[in-house]
Amino acid sequence: MIEIQRGVQLARLTTIGTGGPARAFARPETVTELEEALTWAAERALPAATVGLGSNLLAADEGVDALVLRLGGSLAAVATDDTTMTAGGGATNAVCLHAARRASLGGIEFACAIPGTAGGGIWMNAGAYGSDWSTILTRALVVTATDSGWLTPAELGLSYRHSNLCHGQVVAHVEYRLVRRSAEGIRASVANLIAQRKATQPTNKRTFGSVFKNPEHELGAGRMLEECGLKGHRIGGAVISPKHANFIENAGGATSADALALMAEARRRARVQFGVVLEHEVELLGAIAVE
Ligand SMILES: Cc1cc2nc3c(=O)[nH]c(=O)nc-3n(C[C@H](O)[C@H](O)[C@H](O)COP(=O)(O)OP(=O)(O)OC[C@H]3O[C@@H](n4cnc5c(N)ncnc54)[C@H](O)[C@@H]3O)c2cc1C
Repeated sequence: MIEIQRGVQLARLTTIGTGGPARAFARPETVTELEEALTWAAERALPAATVGLGSNLLAADEGVDALVLRLGGSLAAVATDDTTMTAGGGATNAVCLHAARRASLGGIEFACAIPGTAGGGIWMNAGAYGSDWSTILTRALVVTATDSGWLTPAELGLSYRHSNLCHGQVVAHVEYRLVRRSAEGIRASVANLIAQRKATQPTNKRTFGSVFKNPEHELGAGRMLEECGLKGHRIGGAVISPKHANFIENAGGATSADALALMAEARRRARVQFGVVLEHEVELLGAIAVE
């Protein structure tokens, strides 16, 4: 039977480094273990939520009343065959990219600056530089407490930073369709994309990536918040990045409440100055909301 742990702190599982304890925590390594864990939660009427690298997550300081899962073992492994890559839902983008380069397969280079997993990428159809998960995904094996099945990008409802996935639906495996490309070409593209990132975003700080989705407006969320004078604005241990205003950094001892207060202030200012209601991109876990 899969081991269920208590008291695991979400702060250890998120890149921003905040969040209280999960009511229960498990690390399934096979689909059978994953089904066991989901059944264990369902029998107790406990919701289940999966954490990838926690790079797009803000979890409640009070903790999360759920079974939190982090995929390992075969659910984080990667293999390539001709132009297909199969990966566990918990496989990191870095490991996928490395395997793709070794097999001279291109198409996933855009993910080099996205510090997440295959499952997390599908959840919000993560993307950068004009590509997103819908451009490489063939299908994903989605497991729940009661059934499992392979879904196509259309069935997953992938659109701009969105899928139809709900907590309790776990991406266990994915299949990517890639294209032949030389390892040197891949390496050069990745170096170029990472240099672009370093020049414009706080890549060496504790953040959860973009705070808000870009609104339908000539200005992106970052430029809008910059024009509101919010760069460097601080609440508690959380600060709006002086480098890019659509990022919140943990400047030391930040709580999720600090980050939420900054988000509420940013939304208020964008509404007053631009008449725009910003929608958050970061996923909230637990009993928290942005005012
Ligand atoms: C420095 C930095 C730069 C970033 N740049 C970008 C960028 O350019 N583009 C972009 O789109 N994002 C970006 N992000 C945000 C983030 O990296 C992506 O959204 C990433 O895809 C999240 O993956 P994750 O595995 O960390 O998911 P998590 O943050 O752990 O989880 C996010 C959501 O996905 C769900 N989830 C995770 N794994 C699974 C699974 N196996 N099955 C079902 N649900 C799952 C979680 O429950 C949660 O709701 C950036 C973040 C950082 C810190």
